[in-house]
Amino acid sequence: MYVMNKSFFNIKFKKKIKNSCQVLLLSPGKGVYDYRIDNALEPGEIVSVPLRKRIYQGIVLAEGTLGFPTSKLKDIIEVHNSTKISYELLYFCNWLSNWYISDISNVLKMVIPSSAFLYPVKNKKILIFNKDSDVKTTKLGKKVVNYIKKKDNLTLSECSKALNISLSVINKLIRENVLFLKDINDTEILKIKKENIPKLNNSQKSAVKFIINSSKDSNTFLLDGVTGSGKTEVYLEIISNELKKEKQCLVLLPEIVLSNYFIERFVERFNFFPAVWHSDISKKNKHKIWREVINKKIKIVVGARSALFLPFQDLNLIIVDEEHDASYKQEDGVIYNARDMAVVRGMYSNSKVILGSATPSLESIYNVQIGKYNKIVLSERYGSAKMPHIKIVNMQKEKLQSGKWLSKESIKAVKKALDNKEQVLLYINRRGYSPLTLCRICGYRFSCNNCSAWLVNHKKTNKMLCHHCGHNEEIPDECPNCSSKEEFAPCGPGVERLAAEAKSLFPSAKCEIIASDTVNSSINAKKIFKNIFDGEIDIIIGTQLIAKGHNFLNLTTVVAVDADLGLSGGDLRASERTFQMLTQLAGRAGRADKNGLAYIQSYEPNHNVMRAMQTGKIDNFISAESEGRKYRSLPPFGRLASLIIQSSNLPLLEEFLKKLITNIPKNFKDKKRIDVLGPAPAPITKIRSFYRYRFLIKSKEDVRIQPFIREWLKNIQLTKGIRIKIDIDPYNFL
Ligand SMILES: [Zn+2]
Ligand SMILES: [Zn+2]
Repeated sequence: MYVMNKSFFNIKFKKKIKNSCQVLLLSPGKGVYDYRIDNALEPGEIVSVPLRKRIYQGIVLAEGTLGFPTSKLKDIIEVHNSTKISYELLYFCNWLSNWYISDISNVLKMVIPSSAFLYPVKNKKILIFNKDSDVKTTKLGKKVVNYIKKKDNLTLSECSKALNISLSVINKLIRENVLFLKDINDTEILKIKKENIPKLNNSQKSAVKFIINSSKDSNTFLLDGVTGSGKTEVYLEIISNELKKEKQCLVLLPEIVLSNYFIERFVERFNFFPAVWHSDISKKNKHKIWREVINKKIKIVVGARSALFLPFQDLNLIIVDEEHDASYKQEDGVIYNARDMAVVRGMYSNSKVILGSATPSLESIYNVQIGKYNKIVLSERYGSAKMPHIKIVNMQKEKLQSGKWLSKESIKAVKKALDNKEQVLLYINRRGYSPLTLCRICGYRFSCNNCSAWLVNHKKTNKMLCHHCGHNEEIPDECPNCSSKEEFAPCGPGVERLAAEAKSLFPSAKCEIIASDTVNSSINAKKIFKNIFDGEIDIIIGTQLIAKGHNFLNLTTVVAVDADLGLSGGDLRASERTFQMLTQLAGRAGRADKNGLAYIQSYEPNHNVMRAMQTGKIDNFISAESEGRKYRSLPPFGRLASLIIQSSNLPLLEEFLKKLITNIPKNFKDKKRIDVLGPAPAPITKIRSFYRYRFLIKSKEDVRIQPFIREWLKNIQLTKGIRIKIDIDPYNFL
């Protein structure tokens, strides 16, 4: 969220700061203050400082600047010596804050998510009986000793409570060395003990060699490897090389909560668990990982995009797997793209950065073309696995029964796979039963009161659900408009409806739905994926969640229902994304020695995407896509930024928009090469009762869009009740 009237820091780091320093408080919105110091400090040091009657944690940024006499400044209370943020990370945050026009205190909040992290993890200490002790104890002492011998893992206070004996008795036993206290949370330094090194094929070997031997000034790589080509083994080989040098490594994965394939392979190879960082792990665990990353005890973290902000001290390698994945874009709070920022952090930390994908983004391909990234290709599947055979099913020729979605050809293929005891994946990127429900009598449509969106029917929970705000309601017995009973008609398919069709076609097959609302925790995901591995499931019906990185060896047949769905909507990346999704999806088929088959049901079989899928001529597709973007000066050949203005009060919002329009800088030096489009109501005009308008700012590639936006917003007072979101390099246009 943009905060008006805040200056943007331009930190110029200096090695030593004397007399007074500028401290940024780590509480959002608190700002920067000067403090007096006795001993020299360095930027990045974390301190506790007084402000009014409270104590805050803050980060030392630079020399004091406010021109206040040093004698009138307050003193710093405490310097947290064990938690200095490296220059590399500070420069990175500063860069990110400037690029995304985001307040640096919010960026640093991602580095230090909790002030508790500045202190060591409080270890649980348990009582242990000292076998070598020959001290004679009192009667009460004996009672304690006997109890400790029987019970493990007791803390001092637990023991005292259980026996109703005062702490002083137990403390005396500790002083006399009859008992001692042991830290149980002390983790050992994780290191390779025994490494199981797999055999790499020639292209994997040369990829590894190329990356390891590259020079320092050319250390970003696009690893373009077809699905099943063994990119993971290339990553692990390079990680192994870094771990032997005792350097720190970071691996970013999309949807990490659900994908444990990488972690499994990691453990098989190195015989220890990497630290795992994502939103689903406990705060205590995060605290521990954070401390051990900053103390360099942890050498490897596998994480979601937020792991990019961990306080590594000695980072030497960043891997971004499935670099094309849109989930690397964070859409709330500080809006940033973790794939792009991994490259920036790599630049400041002098790390090698590997962006891996079977379907690289146009942005990364372009960066290879202009010489920013090195490209490495793995063009064959590992071992005996062959690329899947892809068939585009022309749905215009298909006569589907109403409420049915599978073509005859697809049904035949599914049947054949099931007869061969192989697994099948039916893909549709829609949760629930049907995206729209209407009344047959009066045409009433169920829609959300808070959003401009239809309510999605979820039969499993018997609810109508809004996918934008989470609002849900019971499905009523009669129409809210005309009171007709049992006249609701579902329109269009979702995973649940497709599962119902599969069940009716193949009654003896075991079906499982995989979508973000059915697989919503890592434990749940583990269980379901184990069932698939063990052959407990015959037909998987899933959303895009299932298309990412899973490796099901007995899965041979994939059907994409409604493959055109992603092509509508006018998103500039619609074709690219659909192509990536379908390629990933087809890549799930035939991962071992069985041949894979992918049926792509399309009403636009002549669309560029479908033709590329059918012919496998990916380069033609990429160059046609690039030409189109170049012609329209769209990314990566031009720059975009969105301004999203929101308010629950529509007249107020419209008034504010007028103010914004009149303030568009007219004399800006690059104005002729910058277009401001809009304001226009957002495609989803209302979300969570907030009305939304969008500006799209478009510029030539060599023009910086950020100074223009700053100039524009500089003199605008933010009206109460109005929110502005700045989205640089937007991926979402809804
Ligand atoms: Zn009705
Ligand atoms: Zn809603």
